[in-house]
Amino acid sequence: MKIVLLGPPGAGKGTLAGLLKSSLGVFHVSTGDILREEMKADSPLGQETKNYVEKGQLVPDELVTRLVKNKLSDHQLLDKGYLLDGFPRTKAQAEELDKILAEINQPIDFALYMEATLPMILRRLTGRRVCKNCGAVFHLTNRPSKKEGICDVCNGALYQRSDDNEETIRNRMDVYLKNTKPIVDYYETQGKLKKVDGDKESEELQESLMQILDETESNNHH
Ligand code: ADP
Ligand code: ZN
Repeated sequence: MKIVLLGPPGAGKGTLAGLLKSSLGVFHVSTGDILREEMKADSPLGQETKNYVEKGQLVPDELVTRLVKNKLSDHQLLDKGYLLDGFPRTKAQAEELDKILAEINQPIDFALYMEATLPMILRRLTGRRVCKNCGAVFHLTNRPSKKEGICDVCNGALYQRSDDNEETIRNRMDVYLKNTKPIVDYYETQGKLKKVDGDKESEELQESLMQILDETESNNHH
């Protein structure tokens, strides 16, 4: 199963991917997570991208595309399947992804569009807490960790992302509407778009996705 997750920041892409990763045994490839790792390690790539990420701006296409291309050369990942989260984010990235996948003759199954409303997005992002160590996502009220400030998965410390403040969130929404939203049409035109309601809780979304998978599966057999 090869799926692209689409939707505004706070639609729950990362949380859904976290759930599916364990239940379906697929890989979760999040360009945001990769960039945060690089920033944490203070690598050259991290230094180069930090400014963009902290302002809520897009990192240049060429840099992220290189990251993703690199990931998609992993045979284990291609065999097991993956959820691509946070990429593509521009039309250029979407076209580049199609090119990369055409070269290896491994197209995605579909793009899953998680549509969410602005009040929900704001509530999700301002209350979001992330594990420093493993990246697991929690929420102060919707999905609190068992022990305050501590990750349920690995006991790591939880923190608030520096780009989860109201000003940067507004920037990210603008960037999303201008650059990323048009990709929804791009996949729709290809007949590869599936939609779910991103205002719903992740467990419910997981069920909707399972249903979509069943349907695609039976279509493939007919
Ligand atoms: P969210 O979906 O919550 O906005 P992500 O973790 O996906 O956040 O991304 C965080 C930041 O990383 C983005 O605001 C952007 O600066 C950078 N980033 C991640 N993926 C990409 C991408 N495909 N293209 C450009 N910038 C990206
Ligand atoms: Zn953790």
